[in-house]
Amino acid sequence: MDCYLAVDIGGTQLRVALYPTEGITPLERHSISTRPEQGNVLGRLKDLIAGIWPNGSKIRRIGIGVAGPVNPQSGILYNAPNIPEWRNLSIRHEIEGVFETPVVIGNDANLATLGEWRYGAGQGHHDVLYFTISTGIGGGIILHDRIVTGHRGIAAELGHVTVLPGGPMCGCGQRGHLESVSSGPAIARYVSERIAAGRTSSLTLVTPISASDVAEAARQGDPLCIEAFDFAGRMLGQALANYLAILNPSLIILGGGVTKAGPLLFDPMWAALRASVMSPEYLEGLQITTAVLGDEVGLIGALALARLE
Ligand SMILES: [Zn+2]
Repeated sequence: MDCYLAVDIGGTQLRVALYPTEGITPLERHSISTRPEQGNVLGRLKDLIAGIWPNGSKIRRIGIGVAGPVNPQSGILYNAPNIPEWRNLSIRHEIEGVFETPVVIGNDANLATLGEWRYGAGQGHHDVLYFTISTGIGGGIILHDRIVTGHRGIAAELGHVTVLPGGPMCGCGQRGHLESVSSGPAIARYVSERIAAGRTSSLTLVTPISASDVAEAARQGDPLCIEAFDFAGRMLGQALANYLAILNPSLIILGGGVTKAGPLLFDPMWAALRASVMSPEYLEGLQITTAVLGDEVGLIGALALARLE
């Protein structure tokens, strides 16, 4: 029997799974933590793949998704924020060298986009934008049934466009990016900074505030917490209006923990989107929906890449 092998290299977990030629139910899956006491992540990754390698079956292709900028053509990972020793590492070369099987590789957000498009919320659409809104904001673009990767493979950083010039510092070192105002930490920071400046809230600074604390307090009617989501949602809506003008998608998929806030985020998002879109034509037939693959999206995205062509 022929199989595909999917690998998800995340900041906290390394996961591998074996899939048949059809469907998204794995035959087998394993995971270990990315950074235990002892290092050598690459050696442990190779062991993990060897451990799931089937006897008597042919692996057609290995698909790898990695959290970090990677060139899908060359197979070189430029860097990995959570694995500092991996710089300009040719992952494809390393894995192909050991397993003598074709390897395809992509950035985790781009592969999540591919996974949701082929097997999740994006099925049947040809032009799709995907956002994952959690600790950071990642994204991906499907245009005319193809994933957009760009000249060096690093296109579709949808969280790193300026929405508020001179605004808060972003994780990338620039100011005022969408990630700096609409990610989970940004929402939490909006509230804690204002409490520190004297605003009243049901939350206190005794323990660090998280975005889910803010969502919970907002649901209980806390004005500052409602305002924090209103701000994050409006900034997101404004960014979406820009993307509509450039790409004119039929579907936008929103994933990541922050989207669990639901209407707290989505109502102001829609209001800002309607107010700032260039023409209502862009909203005609546009669907905005939430992601459906959940925690499995990393593996399923790597599977979708392995099955392409
Ligand atoms: Zn940024």
